[in-house]
Amino acid sequence: MAQKIVAANWKMNLNFQEANTLISEVTNILKDEKRNTAEVIFAVPFVYVYHLSNFLKTQPFAVAAQNCSEHEKGAYTGEISAQMLASVGAKWVIVGHSERRLYYHETYRIIAEKIQRALQAGLKVIFCCGESLEIRNKNEHIAYVQNQLEGSLAELSVEQMKNIVIAYEPVWAIGTGKNATAEQAQEMHAVIRAYLKKKFGSEIAQNTSILYGGSVNAQNAKSLFSCPDVDGGLVGGASLKAREFAEIVKVYN
Ligand code: PGA
Repeated sequence: MAQKIVAANWKMNLNFQEANTLISEVTNILKDEKRNTAEVIFAVPFVYVYHLSNFLKTQPFAVAAQNCSEHEKGAYTGEISAQMLASVGAKWVIVGHSERRLYYHETYRIIAEKIQRALQAGLKVIFCCGESLEIRNKNEHIAYVQNQLEGSLAELSVEQMKNIVIAYEPVWAIGTGKNATAEQAQEMHAVIRAYLKKKFGSEIAQNTSILYGGSVNAQNAKSLFSCPDVDGGLVGGASLKAREFAEIVKVYN
């Protein structure tokens, strides 16, 4: 059985004080829940990783970075390596988010290299995939996502795949308030699981968490997370509101 996961993606939001307030509020609401079954991850801006990892050290919540360099180290001014992130307490990193693919021109190859760097540094990876509206309207979304998977995961070993979580995030649903329906999510998640089975075998297919992302909120989380192949969510906008994010996590209680 795949681990259920609810991950917050704060993106480039919140100053340091706001970040501290939000994390205190969310963890306070959740800490009295004895029945938490989902793993909770906070993907925060780089500059907060060290502080928030320390803050959460004794609590059952992990910190993720939202990106890492494809290079190991060296003359790459302004970049942050996976090793640096691991050394300041990050346990996870998001790789291949559609905003990185679109605005920072990350190719399948660059994403594959980032995944290797992350795994070498001992980080677990939330690998994002998902089609644009244009592709869905042409009814090419399934082949497109299969290509994204093949383009960046194909070289991984079964052993490496144990540290990969996949987030299906249709681009048209991200930040738009227009989430995929449970049927649309389930359809693609089943396609992703079938790909994993064919490529890496049944055990990886069964045990890999496949998250849905794109306008998840406290109202729609339950129906999305009830789909047989949806193992949780990657939550952007709604993760910036303590009470709402906690409600989403509590879907699994
Ligand atoms: P959203 O973002 O929940 O604001 O749509 C999700 C994401 O981009 O990870």
